[in-house]
Amino acid sequence: MRLLGTMRFNDKRHLEIGGCDTVELAKKYGTPLYVIDEALFRQNCQNYYRSFTEEYGTEVIYASKTLSNLAICTIVEQEGLGLDVVSGGELFTAAKARFPMERVYFHGNNKSPDELRLALDYKVGRIVVDNLYELELLNAIAGEKDTKASIILRLSPGVEAHTHEYIKTGQIDSKFGLAIENGMAMSAVMRSLELSNILLKGIHCHIGSQIFELASYAHAAEVMMNFVQKIFQETGYLAEELNLGGGLGIYYSEGDYPRSVKEYADILMSAVRAKAAEFDIPAPKVIVEPGRSISGPSGTTLYRIGAIKDIPGIRKYVSVDGGMSDNPRPALYKSKYEACLANRVNEEPIEQVSIAGKCCESGDMLIWDIKLPVITTGDILAISCTGAYNYSMSMNYNRLPRPAMVLVCEGKADLIVKREDYADIIRNDVMPQRLCNSRIKLASSSR
Ligand SMILES: *Cc1c(COP(=O)(O)O)cnc(C)c1O
Repeated sequence: MRLLGTMRFNDKRHLEIGGCDTVELAKKYGTPLYVIDEALFRQNCQNYYRSFTEEYGTEVIYASKTLSNLAICTIVEQEGLGLDVVSGGELFTAAKARFPMERVYFHGNNKSPDELRLALDYKVGRIVVDNLYELELLNAIAGEKDTKASIILRLSPGVEAHTHEYIKTGQIDSKFGLAIENGMAMSAVMRSLELSNILLKGIHCHIGSQIFELASYAHAAEVMMNFVQKIFQETGYLAEELNLGGGLGIYYSEGDYPRSVKEYADILMSAVRAKAAEFDIPAPKVIVEPGRSISGPSGTTLYRIGAIKDIPGIRKYVSVDGGMSDNPRPALYKSKYEACLANRVNEEPIEQVSIAGKCCESGDMLIWDIKLPVITTGDILAISCTGAYNYSMSMNYNRLPRPAMVLVCEGKADLIVKREDYADIIRNDVMPQRLCNSRIKLASSSR
């Protein structure tokens, strides 16, 4: 396992993060446990701030869908970044963390009327409008409130990026955004300029996630700038803001070669500036929305090993006390992770095993075929790079309580999310009175 952030091996031969012995953390807080390396999370924020904001005046918005809670929102605020939220729940979390609402961007392809009302009441900085239905709905709601909604329009630029390559497709067939290619984007721009309770600020795109190919960003930036120019020529409206989304890839396991935030910033911003120069228009204010590349590497999940099953000649299954319920990514996307035995980091990895979760799904496997020291029940397994899309995607499948989360820094650990207990599991269950003594008669079995 690659050591990230403040990870090191201490003299007890245990994995240490943020100066805290992970074996002690597992004992004190139980397992599974999400451990967030505060210094690394902050450093990742600072990297973005330095490479984009200080260098180019670009606004950096942390995508809170990757990891959000009160403590994380507060750290993001302290580091000077904005926040991208995609639901009333994420917005509420930001508000409760007293996040400055003018630095909040509200995304989503199906915001409900209530969510839009909440966003206007909170006075969020921008609403990123995804489609024409939402545009009309938002205009009406803003009208009722006698206010103007500041929006940017989510467009699909016809550039779709996956890890190592990007494709120039029509990509008209997407649930997100309005395609430039088929004219929907232009009609939305025109309509936005007409509507009396809408204030159009600019345009947005997000071309994918876990991207290593920086040329895909340059290409998307060029397509968007071409469209800024086209809008200017056709309507006389010059977009003030250009939000180019997030998606920078990170290291999860061998074969991942992430690019630096600085390279990303330089390539993206030179593409925007070159186009502005070409068209002789002022470069719009650029916004980027990194998620995974800030939160991902800062998280590690600790599990306790339970059942070990060696199927002779086939495979050795090692089961942990969590699984797809706290990390659905391997089951959803076949994502790969690295791990180590947190309580015996010095021992040679000599045995190939597969790490199984405890959910009732054959697909609930966290890692296939990993070399580890000989494992025994009770060992602590640490899986790295679980900061993004783990806790935020966690669920109560099999009625498993969700894990706790601790923030570690300079030898101190603070609980930032409590572990759910069984009472939480039935918290919203309601027992109707009539179930207590009535027998339901089905028509087909009336005799
Ligand atoms: C998911 C998402 C992001 C963040 O993506 P990462 O790959 O986590 O950096 C940014 N913007 C939008 C609109 C998104 O949907």
